[in-house]
Amino acid sequence: MKKPLVKSLSVITVNVPLERPIVASLGTFEYWPYMLIEISLSDGTIGKGYIGPYLVNYTQTITLAMKELFKNFQNREIAPYQFYNEGLNHLSLLGRSGIALYALAGLDIAFWDASSKICNEPLCVHLGGSVDKVKAYNSSGLWLDHPQTLYDEALSLISEGNFDAVKVRLGRKKLDEDLIAIENVKKGIGVNSELLCDFNQCLSLPQAIHRLNDLDEQGLYWFEEPIKYYEFEGYKELRKRMKTPIILGENFHGFDDAFAALKNQISDFIMPDLLRIGGVSAWLKTASIAEAFQISVSSHLYHEVSSHLMRVTPTAGYLEWTRWSNIILEEPYELSDGHVVIPNKIGTGIDFNKETIKKYEYKY
Ligand SMILES: [Mg+2]
Repeated sequence: MKKPLVKSLSVITVNVPLERPIVASLGTFEYWPYMLIEISLSDGTIGKGYIGPYLVNYTQTITLAMKELFKNFQNREIAPYQFYNEGLNHLSLLGRSGIALYALAGLDIAFWDASSKICNEPLCVHLGGSVDKVKAYNSSGLWLDHPQTLYDEALSLISEGNFDAVKVRLGRKKLDEDLIAIENVKKGIGVNSELLCDFNQCLSLPQAIHRLNDLDEQGLYWFEEPIKYYEFEGYKELRKRMKTPIILGENFHGFDDAFAALKNQISDFIMPDLLRIGGVSAWLKTASIAEAFQISVSSHLYHEVSSHLMRVTPTAGYLEWTRWSNIILEEPYELSDGHVVIPNKIGTGIDFNKETIKKYEYKY
């Protein structure tokens, strides 16, 4: 059976304001860059996807890399998984991570959307799964703000989609400040909810041993990235010492990193990021690696595509939900009782908001 040919690529970057600025140990962010990718096929189908590569000043470089890479697939019958493997081989001279991988990830996400659309299926069905809602936690706030403000914020995050799990950022100067933050958030979310926490890699290993030891009795669902993501030996040490599960993965740059982390047994759970892992195809590989190691997989950002992927991830755990991407979409995914609802539409069902593009397009 002949498939439509890949014809053209469009990439638009927008830099949009965040409703609640991100205040993390990595920095304060008031705006977030999104690259909106569309791939047109010969039958008129348009595959859509977006990536949010953190640093708006580098989006022009990523766009150029994407356009260069796209030439390898132009005027060929669409075949996302094959394209991905070819693309990775093609890029190997530049390495299997970094900006080259971001470019491949962006194309891959849009290719899979197009491929599901020509088969008239939602992405998760196209991948061999079925449509259903996906268990999620609200990750939209609870930054390193003043601990006393976190009670109100926790209440509002829970009520936003009837969530029963939220994530608080930890790693303040003093342990007591973290403890007050935890106490206030717990009061806001109630005893039946789960509290996850994220240190955004802000501690050294000796600091982490102290701080996590003091927090180990708090009943937190996981400790996320307490130390730099590449300090494998440190993670092994923390895993040995703590009862609370350790998670990392948003900084896996390609599935090679996921394999290395799991082979070295450095975490209890993983949470790949759709962009940094390398797109839909790379997620599928990572999900198989995690299944082989029997490690639970959560997600990082990109809840639209990630929710489809969780439906075909054998060891799926929590999906991360934030409202950040709502502004770029015509119809953001809905929430229901702490779950993200996958819309019964072909592909991922996303369309880009034209008003947002008009208002926030980033001009080079
Ligand atoms: Mg994190």
